[in-house]
Amino acid sequence: MPSLVEAKRQVVAYVDSGRYEADIAAVADEARTYLESRAQRGGKLAIVVDIDETALSNLPSMRANDYGFIVAGPCDLPRGPCGLIAWIGMARAEPIKPVLALVRLARDRGVDVFFLTGRPERLRAATEANLRAAGYGWSGVILKPDDLTTKSAADFKAPERKKLQDQGYTIIVNIGDQMSDLDGGFAERTYKLPNPFYFIP
Ligand SMILES: [Mg+2]
Repeated sequence: MPSLVEAKRQVVAYVDSGRYEADIAAVADEARTYLESRAQRGGKLAIVVDIDETALSNLPSMRANDYGFIVAGPCDLPRGPCGLIAWIGMARAEPIKPVLALVRLARDRGVDVFFLTGRPERLRAATEANLRAAGYGWSGVILKPDDLTTKSAADFKAPERKKLQDQGYTIIVNIGDQMSDLDGGFAERTYKLPNPFYFIP
């Protein structure tokens, strides 16, 4: 097992070399290719898109914390520390561009876009403001109820995808940076983006 310092050095090298961005683009491009062909067959179609490290990049806050995880307190950029809740409230995260291109393609082809996030409902206003500022449009933004805790994010997300299916949607693409975004079914195809920063069970 590498030391913490060495592990962080590897993360910095992965991001700064451009490999992180390239790996994201490769996965999102596959999703776009599938969406493009699948949309031609028609139906009441949807894609489901995770938010953090999928639609939006929190890299500025993670860099400011030297890839440590700080939830509470103010967010001082670029110097740090940067508390996660304060950072989300600033609604300044940039779009992950290949995912923005996927969402735009979907909407252009008449495919509904649903964001599905483990962010709690109390952060809805900041989350929607950030998505809008980043250039996203959508049919729905589904956040976790404030009082809900589950062992895995999949225990919240999979049933939410089932609800969309029960409304008559066929989810053709589900894209996220955690396996817990994708596990549990209710999507024709799943697309896993890299996340070398953190793990969400
Ligand atoms: Mg995520």
